[in-house]
Amino acid sequence: MNGDELRHLLAIHEDISRVMKDPRFPPPNRWGSDLRMFVVTALWVIAVERAPKGTRIPRVCEVMHLDNFHFWELIRSDLPRYEPDTMYRDGGCVAVLPRAKRRCGKGTVWAFSVTNPVDGTWELVGYCSRHREEGRAAEAAERRRKQAGGIPTPLPNRGGLLPCYLPWDWSKNYAKADSNWEPPAVGIRADDWPVLTKVEAAHPTPPKLTVVSGAFEFEEPDASEADAGPPQLRLIGSDKQGRVE
Ligand SMILES: [Zn+2]
Repeated sequence: MNGDELRHLLAIHEDISRVMKDPRFPPPNRWGSDLRMFVVTALWVIAVERAPKGTRIPRVCEVMHLDNFHFWELIRSDLPRYEPDTMYRDGGCVAVLPRAKRRCGKGTVWAFSVTNPVDGTWELVGYCSRHREEGRAAEAAERRRKQAGGIPTPLPNRGGLLPCYLPWDWSKNYAKADSNWEPPAVGIRADDWPVLTKVEAAHPTPPKLTVVSGAFEFEEPDASEADAGPPQLRLIGSDKQGRVE
């Protein structure tokens, strides 16, 4: 093994360990598909197996046993978007008990979203049957806020991890995974989002993709690579004999 090979292997090792330590990855989705393992497998397929361009996504799917449906569900789970941190179900009724100075917490009978007009973030809140009046007042206030207009689009706080690690055209893939999705103004890459500065500070290692690009001859984001995924996957699904180039 020469020096270049060794550097190559060490860089892959570092990249994979960065993915493994990244706290932003969600747990496996409801079908058990794991986005973190998808990224690790893709890095492996690109840098170690050196699968030729156009065969990489199908190869990753083959290793992970992802069919067309599960592949796109996994991509969908990484859509850059805003999502509230907590759902009302976690804490029950949000009405504040004046004496106890805490939230009621009882089982809720109805819920709705409450928007922060400053940054556009929203959360679902619920009220129990005893606190109907409080709920009605809060719901009316929300209606007034929405009618007043001018609520900004919230910054994304979920997804956007694939573009941090894999040099493929994720804008195109996200749009394909969900036709209603719109790219956030701050970009699709979670590393670039201002709301994630806390996470970045906890893990100060800068993204390595540019370094890796030179060493491994990664191509620029490439739409044809993205396109190579689904049609070939369908072929894998229908013909278990092997991959189709
Ligand atoms: Zn209550």
